[in-house]
Amino acid sequence: MNFENLNLIQPLLNAVNKKGYLNPTPIQEKAIPTILQGKDIFGCAQTGTGKTAAFALPILQLLETEKDRNQRRAVRALILAPTRELVAQISEEFNTYSKGLDIRLVTIYGGISQNAQTQALQKGVDIIVAAPGRLLDLMNQGYVHLDKVEYLVLDEADRMLDMGFINDIRKITAKLPSKRQTMLFSATAPDEIRKLAASLLHNPVQLNLSPDTMPPILVSQSVYHVKKENKKFLLTHVLQNESVKNVLVFTRTKHGADKVVKDLIKNGIKAQAIHGNKSQSARDKALKDFKNRTIRVLVATDVASRGIDVDKLSHVINYEIPEQAETYVHRIGRTGRAGETGSALSFCSSDEKAYLKNIHKLIRRNIDVVTSHPFAINAVFSTTFS
Ligand code: AMP
Repeated sequence: MNFENLNLIQPLLNAVNKKGYLNPTPIQEKAIPTILQGKDIFGCAQTGTGKTAAFALPILQLLETEKDRNQRRAVRALILAPTRELVAQISEEFNTYSKGLDIRLVTIYGGISQNAQTQALQKGVDIIVAAPGRLLDLMNQGYVHLDKVEYLVLDEADRMLDMGFINDIRKITAKLPSKRQTMLFSATAPDEIRKLAASLLHNPVQLNLSPDTMPPILVSQSVYHVKKENKKFLLTHVLQNESVKNVLVFTRTKHGADKVVKDLIKNGIKAQAIHGNKSQSARDKALKDFKNRTIRVLVATDVASRGIDVDKLSHVINYEIPEQAETYVHRIGRTGRAGETGSALSFCSSDEKAYLKNIHKLIRRNIDVVTSHPFAINAVFSTTFS
């Protein structure tokens, strides 16, 4: 299967070629024709599967080819995503693919002045990519009119619910025409998501591509048993290895993230933290510095890291083992993307063994135990799942 088989129009094929994509990913193979046929989608897929292009390409095609040339520009597609980072990334992809098309897009999220956003809205846009909170705010101020929306995407819907956006989503979707095409993507499908899907989707095609229990196959996983107080030394030790080119380090708390950065900087290692207490500009800068390799280590909490997409990320380190086993799968899915290999290292102290056990149960795979490090403690815990 190649992109030509998907009946995409030439400007989109050119954009995909320019991006260097050789073949569509499995979710693209399935979602692109389905969306072009006008069907609703309920997709269980995580970031890293190519799902952004899976909805962006067909939506752009439909906007371009089913345009009423006599109509004034109106918002025809609305994409909702949970975090500022993810919203920015989705916009960036839409902008890349829409080169050569007459499409205007505005990116809407909070934490920055609303002026540029309202100015763009007043000039007229075809697509809004937004985080729910600021969008609702601008709707309430009368800047946004959604009565012409034909395509609605909810991306990372489970995370939007976790972050408490359900009421905002309900208020936003209440303003949309009931006749529209809706695509809902979620990494997990708990009951609340199914309920939301049932209320928003009409006869959806279900795409179940990467269940949450399946870590990316190209990621090698290992665990280091270590005393809590030695984790900072172990991290510095691991970072001495040159194969660790760029690392996303996960901590459970914002305070923990700041502490790891402080310890690393003390040891002469360039690092920055990204979490909810940081200003938008600090988060943007940290991500930019990490992407352009000015810093080697980015320390993040789970919410802030959601959807972060870094090309060729060599390592993910779980400085703390997450309480939810699914979170582990999300975290390690930051590496090993788009066919690249990657490594996920987990630092496990004795109080975290129960979490590790749950992870084994979920992924039904053994995680290699590394004992050849200066801070090893006897791993009394068996890593074999039963
Ligand atoms: P996503 O799941 O949308 O976050 O995409 C993950 C990464 O895969 C992004 O960096 C995309 O640019 C990249 N990507 C998307 N589609 C393809 C493709 N068909 N081939 C290779 N890489 C892709």
